[in-house]
Amino acid sequence: MNGRELYTTAHVCPPQEPLPKPVSRFPHAEFLISAAAPAQFPADQGAEVAFVGRSNAGKSSAINAIAQRQGLARTSKTPGRTRLLNFFELGANRRIVDLPGYGYASAPEVERRTWTPMIEALKDRRSLRGLFVIVDARRGVTAGDEGLLDWSASDHRIHVLLSKADKLNRSESLEVLRTATRALAGRDATVQLFSAHSRTGVEEAQNVLAAWLESKPGAPSAPPGTEA
Ligand code: GDP
Repeated sequence: MNGRELYTTAHVCPPQEPLPKPVSRFPHAEFLISAAAPAQFPADQGAEVAFVGRSNAGKSSAINAIAQRQGLARTSKTPGRTRLLNFFELGANRRIVDLPGYGYASAPEVERRTWTPMIEALKDRRSLRGLFVIVDARRGVTAGDEGLLDWSASDHRIHVLLSKADKLNRSESLEVLRTATRALAGRDATVQLFSAHSRTGVEEAQNVLAAWLESKPGAPSAPPGTEA
């Protein structure tokens, strides 16, 4: 063998193996319960963060991307569960609450009658650390969204994910971020660009969620740089 043979591709490169899966930030994420009434909520212990957004805003995709579990939030889409509050456990006494797609101001009266007490009961829980609001970045934060954000007005901070950011170019992204930041000014709110598809902002969202889930009730915990 001469020296050159030692360095053929076959010697230098080991056989291709699949890339290792990234270590999950929330390795024990799992579906907990669908609640049709406050009495079915899990015990009010530990910490939880609610996820809300209009239908089709990308909420399920965001939950799956953040929890790194494909199909986790599919439960919320199964017939019969779309109008329920779906709880997922990310760790011991650490939960996500997936609220049905909103726009419920125009929902039938009967739906609102079931809904309102559930939301009110959720707001009153000591565990609730805040609200992730998923807004399609192409739509931006609208008057309707701001109406919803009001439910968190007093005690509950909010974090807005401007979703599907992969659909925007850089200058459009910056513009939508600027506009949302203006719309949220004066609230206890943070905002970021997000894409489940390109994974833009997934780590940032995980950081906010993890910090909130580890925070004490009422404690501010916005990481620097995300203030609205
Ligand atoms: P939900 O109704 O708010 O739970 O929204 P889904 O997560 O089901 O997403 C609604 C639609 O938007 C689906 O067709 C998704 O494939 C699409 N979608 C979700 N996230 C993204 C994203 O990050 N980028 C793009 N381009 N499409 C997305």
